[in-house]
Amino acid sequence: MRRKLAAGNWKMNGVQSTLSELDALQDAAKGDAEVLICPPATLIFSASKRAGLVAIGAQDCHSAESGAHTGDLSAAMLRDAGATYVILGHSERRADHGESDALVAYKTLAAWGAGLKAIVCVGETLEEREAGKTLDVIGRQLAGSLPDDSTAANLVVAYEPVWAIGTGKVPSTSQIGEVHGFIRSSLISRFGNEIGSAVRLLYGGSVKGSNADEIFAVDNVDGALVGGASLTAGDFVPIVDALN
Ligand code: PEP
Repeated sequence: MRRKLAAGNWKMNGVQSTLSELDALQDAAKGDAEVLICPPATLIFSASKRAGLVAIGAQDCHSAESGAHTGDLSAAMLRDAGATYVILGHSERRADHGESDALVAYKTLAAWGAGLKAIVCVGETLEEREAGKTLDVIGRQLAGSLPDDSTAANLVVAYEPVWAIGTGKVPSTSQIGEVHGFIRSSLISRFGNEIGSAVRLLYGGSVKGSNADEIFAVDNVDGALVGGASLTAGDFVPIVDALN
């Protein structure tokens, strides 16, 4: 049985006072679904002290354990600050920082080495979808970004079509179902039935309270990675409730 997961990605938003949103998530977090907030790194320590039933994660980590990498943060530092998860390979990092599948795989290994669970993101651009290349792209990203030692305990995969992030556009439920079914079979063929069937798959891209029920009814959707609608408890609670 895969535990549902509602994961919020605050991106580059939030200051100390924003952490009051965590207090307002406590009731929703009493349900069966796991609730995770990934604030900017500056807030991880304070967030983890105030998190209550909410898990706290990071939005990226470096692939090295330590060293001369000005401005970067290692997985161990994030774990030390209170994170238990890290989002890796988000399309904004792939685009803004030129992150390759291979780098995402190294970062995933670093995350595991520090005891963090990795949420590895994959997703096609609109151009790739229109060219009929969606499954090729997702297959390539999965093959390159996921290390061999993936398990249901250390990995979550998030399908986030780039064209759906922050745009208000959402794929049809059959498009989501097709990609999630493809990811599930890819995981089973690479990692075997036991692991491949147990890894949680999140959908991400313009999830809101108003479309959550429909998206969560799709096969192999075990929750959501949510950007904009995770910034306030008022928007995020209905998404969490839809999973419970
Ligand atoms: C995201 O960036 O991970 C995301 C899904 O954003 P939004 O929910 O705002 O589309």
